[in-house]
Amino acid sequence: MSARVVRSQVIVIGAGFTGLSAAHVLKAAGIDVVVLEARDRVGGRVESMSNGLGERVDVGGQYYCDDMPEISALADAYGKTRVNGLFPGKWLIEPATIVGTVEDLYRRSARIRDRANALDPDDPAIANLSVRGWAEAQPDAHDAQWAFLGSIEGLWCQPADLLPLWYFVSNDRRITNEAPELQYFLKETMHSLAEDLGHQLGSGLRLGEAVRSIRHGPGKVSLRTDAGLYEAEHAILAVPPVMARRLTYDPPLPVELCQATSVWRSGKVIKALLRYERPFWRDKGLSGSVFFLDPLGLYACDASRDDDHAAIVVFAGGSLAERWRRMGHEAVKLAILEKLRAALGHEAKTPLDVTMRDWTDDKWSGGGYSDTIMDFSAKDAEAILRRGLSSVAFASSELSPSFPGYIEGAIVAGRAAAIGVIESLQSAMATSASGS
Ligand SMILES: Cc1cc2nc3c(=O)[nH]c(=O)nc-3n(C[C@H](O)[C@H](O)[C@H](O)COP(=O)(O)OP(=O)(O)OC[C@H]3O[C@@H](n4cnc5c(N)ncnc54)[C@H](O)[C@@H]3O)c2cc1C
Repeated sequence: MSARVVRSQVIVIGAGFTGLSAAHVLKAAGIDVVVLEARDRVGGRVESMSNGLGERVDVGGQYYCDDMPEISALADAYGKTRVNGLFPGKWLIEPATIVGTVEDLYRRSARIRDRANALDPDDPAIANLSVRGWAEAQPDAHDAQWAFLGSIEGLWCQPADLLPLWYFVSNDRRITNEAPELQYFLKETMHSLAEDLGHQLGSGLRLGEAVRSIRHGPGKVSLRTDAGLYEAEHAILAVPPVMARRLTYDPPLPVELCQATSVWRSGKVIKALLRYERPFWRDKGLSGSVFFLDPLGLYACDASRDDDHAAIVVFAGGSLAERWRRMGHEAVKLAILEKLRAALGHEAKTPLDVTMRDWTDDKWSGGGYSDTIMDFSAKDAEAILRRGLSSVAFASSELSPSFPGYIEGAIVAGRAAAIGVIESLQSAMATSASGS
């Protein structure tokens, strides 16, 4: 029996914020679009789980700020309720062995980051330096260097000694927010916003359809999933680069493009939400934010929705997530509780419930928060991926000109890819009209 064939003008692979945003632009332009998503849900690296009360909480992408206009506008357009993500009070560094104030250490570490940002990513003098190698050669005191490296492990979720400095600089320069990135989250969850976008696609959205192979040529693509065959004039591959690498291409990708997909590595992150009877840390004037210097890559902050929903969110990134994932769920939970107890007091050891999501080696994302280029020589990889194939565009938050690695970046990347495809379709129509 031959497989069923579904035809459309454009196919989008992946229903994360990149794919959903691309599909919305295409649909608004009157283009017939089908979205194929491997999982049984939309959102990709934006996901929710139920806490002990049965309420949904974001266990993936969650936060945004005033300097991220696209996600702010979407949240408003879909009537979501904004919750302030940062609480007044004292920030902690753990262990509290530093000389001077936390604010002072933060300022000194931020100065190192600003100095890195002032470097030219194309300067041959930094071509072979890792972020760690460069930071340790700076004239700053050891504690400031260590705090800077902690923020790198925590935000880029990669070991700083393996992260190329030029990539970090080129990436960080596109993250331009002045407002704190944890400024807001959504009461209804960020995942509910992805679901709203998905619902609007109606039958054009197909869940549980993992694309295995892509056959491509000028003006024609056919995609094979486990259930069938999909054909279109164009495809947008809205998956992280590491996942794009796992597909089979016929004909095989040109060497340059094949190499450009192979230089990325998924970040490693574990996120945990701990719900408490009450926000006990505020009694001591604490904000709930704890920046851990030991182990590097661990960060906690207040994630209370209101006084009835007191919570702390914990992120473990980079080498720490890699080490912790091998310990197993219960041991990670105990390690988190012990770290929080040391910082916030004994009440931290008795949460009402813990909702934890390990993103390391995630089947359909590879990891989180995002993929990073880990090959020191791969300067052109992003540009090559953005050029893509004549009938297949590569898009994901990683490739965004603004806020790469963030939900904001995913929206920008998805919309840009869709506009590129619309232009190609229009130019093909103009060519065929002038020929007829
Ligand atoms: C723990 C965690 C916390 C984060 N916190 C924040 C935050 O607070 N704020 C923020 O802005 N960002 C945050 N991020 C990052 C943000 O979530 C991502 O940058 C963004 O969601 C990426 O969107 P995307 O559409 O580019 O990729 P994805 O969300 O990964 O979407 C790709 C989709 O493609 C699907 N797919 C993959 N392969 C196939 C295939 N072969 N066939 C069909 N479908 C396929 C996947 O299932 C997935 O749904 C966080 C990420 C994580 C993991």
